[in-house]
Amino acid sequence: MIAVEKALDTILAPIRRLEPESVDLLDALGRVLAVDVTSDIDVAPFDNSAMDGYAVRAADVEGAEEGRPVELKVIEHVAAGKVPERAVGPGEATRIMTGAPMPSGADAVVMVEYTQGLELDGGAGGSVAIERAVRLGENVRGQGEDMRAGDVVLRAGEVVDDAAVGLLAAVGRPRVDVYGRPRVAIVSTGDELVPIGQKPGPGQIRNTNAWSLSSQVLLAGGVPVRLGVARDTEEETRKLLGRAGEFDMMLATGGVSMGDFDVVRDVLESLGTMSFWKVAMRPGAPLTYGAIEGTPFFGLPGNPTSSMVSFELFARPALRVMQGFSALERPRVSAALEEPVRKKPHRRYYLRGRLAQGPDGFTVALSGSQSSALLTSMHLANCLLVLPEGRNEFDAGETVDCMRLDAEEGTP
Ligand code: AMP
Ligand code: MG
Repeated sequence: MIAVEKALDTILAPIRRLEPESVDLLDALGRVLAVDVTSDIDVAPFDNSAMDGYAVRAADVEGAEEGRPVELKVIEHVAAGKVPERAVGPGEATRIMTGAPMPSGADAVVMVEYTQGLELDGGAGGSVAIERAVRLGENVRGQGEDMRAGDVVLRAGEVVDDAAVGLLAAVGRPRVDVYGRPRVAIVSTGDELVPIGQKPGPGQIRNTNAWSLSSQVLLAGGVPVRLGVARDTEEETRKLLGRAGEFDMMLATGGVSMGDFDVVRDVLESLGTMSFWKVAMRPGAPLTYGAIEGTPFFGLPGNPTSSMVSFELFARPALRVMQGFSALERPRVSAALEEPVRKKPHRRYYLRGRLAQGPDGFTVALSGSQSSALLTSMHLANCLLVLPEGRNEFDAGETVDCMRLDAEEGTP
């Protein structure tokens, strides 16, 4: 039996990130950039108006105010997408829309709200009464204000979020190099398992784990591939575990306890190598870890919540390393216990809990019964209470460490 940290170190030590791949921009969302990205142009590409209004020479409208307007001759109308043809001279203004290029000569824009258009027929040739002064450069977005051509706008290792997708679009990248998504094989073991579309007969249960684990893999950025059910024989288990080499990771559930038909460990040792079996924690103690043809292999416990907690603590960080993420740990918060909790002293416990924001910080209550077979309390949980080895009683009001399941790694 090994400690949680030792288990995680052992798992992560040989894990490498996958090769980068070129993907459509939107498929890069949530993934890790494999290259630095430079801008091919200035953004904004030209000085342009930040407002609908009149491009003016600031000096012309000095002292203008309501009741004491300055009248300027309107020489041109410029919409976004058009290019001004005339320079603004002293005593002149150009009617301009947001995003339209600034005409030469003009150095500020007066918002239309502070003007009275006196143009004829809405065309040029009329005049405008300006009722407010503007500073030099006011309401003008400068060329290159956001980015300059050649600037590194995103660095390798950064996570592509929604704004980064916008940046990449702005610098003309319909395709982007990001680290690959791990393909994860999921094997269920057990004579009792039936497909979920079927009503279980006597002694049978539905193959729940394949689906909860597939979801966890997806949420962790991986691509789940369900290989089906191996009955509890060495032969059937070997057939599915023998396919590990086709994948970046293999997850099996069940068959790792002390039962007469728990054959996963034997098969793992015959096909590859086993690094450890059993971790000093609860739930999830029977976790078995090794490698088959270089593919990391997790023998997760069969109980639905145990397999989910083991995935969360051990497989998820490994999947994140493969995808190039540097943040591997879920955010943790301290929370005051709403009820006393008892545990056995020798193991670390990960209890399903519900965090709530109280007036004096977070509070946490258990989300229901903690039996490893129950999924309802896992569904209600938004955190795992991390209760350390060496203690067995925690009082109401005491502060405990909680691992948030509702927030991504790297979230403060
Ligand atoms: P085992 O480690 O194989 O003895 O499994 C422990 C418990 O988990 C048993 O009650 C199994 O029936 C249950 N179990 C195993 N595999 C699954 C699965 N794929 N879906 C739901 N429950 C399972
Ligand atoms: Mg079994």
